[in-house]
Amino acid sequence: MSFLEYAPAPESQAILNLRSEYGLFIDGEFREGHGTPFASISPATEKHLATIAHADAADVDAAVAAARRAYDRTWSRMSGADRGKYLFRIARLVQERSRELAVAESLDNGKPIKESRDVDVPLVAAWFFYYAGWADKLDHVGLGASPAPLGVAAQVIPWNFPLLMLAWKIAPALAAGNTVVLKPAETTSLTALLFAEIVQQADLPPGVVNIITGAGETGAALVGHGDVDKVAFTGSTSVGRAIARSVAGTNKKLTLELGGKAANIVFDDAPIDQAIEGIVNGIFFNQGHVCCAGSRLLVQESIHDEVIDRLKTRLSTLRLGDPLDKNTDIGAINSAEQLERIRELSDVGEAEGAERWTAACTIPENGFWYAPTIFTNVSTSHRIAREEIFGPVLSVLTFRTPAEAIAKANNTPYGLSAGIWTDKGSRILAVADKLRAGVVWANTFNRFDPSSPFGGYKESGYGREGGRHGIAAYLKTAAPALVAAAPARKTVTKGATK
Ligand code: NAP
Ligand code: MG
Repeated sequence: MSFLEYAPAPESQAILNLRSEYGLFIDGEFREGHGTPFASISPATEKHLATIAHADAADVDAAVAAARRAYDRTWSRMSGADRGKYLFRIARLVQERSRELAVAESLDNGKPIKESRDVDVPLVAAWFFYYAGWADKLDHVGLGASPAPLGVAAQVIPWNFPLLMLAWKIAPALAAGNTVVLKPAETTSLTALLFAEIVQQADLPPGVVNIITGAGETGAALVGHGDVDKVAFTGSTSVGRAIARSVAGTNKKLTLELGGKAANIVFDDAPIDQAIEGIVNGIFFNQGHVCCAGSRLLVQESIHDEVIDRLKTRLSTLRLGDPLDKNTDIGAINSAEQLERIRELSDVGEAEGAERWTAACTIPENGFWYAPTIFTNVSTSHRIAREEIFGPVLSVLTFRTPAEAIAKANNTPYGLSAGIWTDKGSRILAVADKLRAGVVWANTFNRFDPSSPFGGYKESGYGREGGRHGIAAYLKTAAPALVAAAPARKTVTKGATK
């Protein structure tokens, strides 16, 4: 079969007005950091994008002090309706600057523009709109007696969805009346700094949102700071563990959103075409840099060969390359370190006896790239079936009965998400009920909505982001909620079957 060639269709960078240097955003203005500045590069070209300030312990102190002042003097005293107006304003500014934010995100992170433009940035706006609506209703929705903010929130986020993770953290914190200090990941600080400009445009009182850039030590200094009331972290399980240790024995409230090794379970009665798209979306969306990625495909033995054949055919049509090209499906791997980890674990997969298949595609000369890869003949003891690869690599296992599928799906130290593909509604409910995963998608995958709680079991962390539970994590109450107080254990989202 031969395909028509695609002409390049790059999104213009003209809309983007990057500064050559960015300071720390503290108390409503940009200022120099005391650490040694670092460079942000484009992972697709390795070209320098901007120089970013590095916050040391004194800068962390200044940011927390600014957040505390803003909390005491303005934000916690403001009515919920007024806080909501600021959040609505931020949401509208995100929409107004959406093209610019999408281009910046794709340049800095390496993700395809069609994802940053159609998924990340619209969800960022949706998160702010959604939590803006909560700000004036906190007393009336069964969150408990006299819900009150916690104080200063320290928030640390990863590089895979830089702006979206910022929105997940900042929107509920502000809606509940907290002030924040947020540290983006070192390789993807740019959109957080553009967001700081939006905070200025929205005329938010100084100190309500502070963005401090830097590496792991900056994050550690922030979450360990004595004047912080709440710590919210998204990232790896190992750093999450270190943070849990540093917070233990203090009064700080903690939520952790960590890694995952989701099972995407395909039964023999599944709508196969849809399932193939769901498998592709599950693991190749965002180059597989997704904590809830469907990285373990569990396919019923009777349809294994058909599914793998069709999957290979589909993967052969994916276009890898320039993240700013509107036709690109697979962008760049975020960093040289991450690429190394993906290569290393994939080599282990082969050494342990799994069979590797890689889609044929041309790898650009510069930058960090990894072609979509499938491993078949994987067994549950293989490292590629147990450890998070966090890249475009799918491990395929088989099962014969629903009970075996459930046992294999739950055979992981993680418990973030899972997928079920079947024609039978009763099977969806029965299987979802037995999966130890915080989010279960049925006949769909990687679907996000601000009203839907998201979070994990076991080594995937604790606490929920999104929905009512997401805002409850930023509030204290005089007495516990009487109605519907149980924390979200599991969210089940069904897609439409045709
Ligand atoms: P990471 O190394 O844990 O880093 C996450 C963030 O923590 C970064 O901002 C990082 O700064 C900072 N950090 C590093 N060491 C720290 C420390 N000791 N104390 C405080 N902060 C520290 O994870 P990553 O490699 O960036 O992200 C990939 C991981 O995140 C994957 O395991 C993925 O599953 C998980 N993740 C989970 C979710 C979820 O919602 N559950 C969402 C996205 C990603 P630097 O950037 O400077 O290292
Ligand atoms: Mg970068």
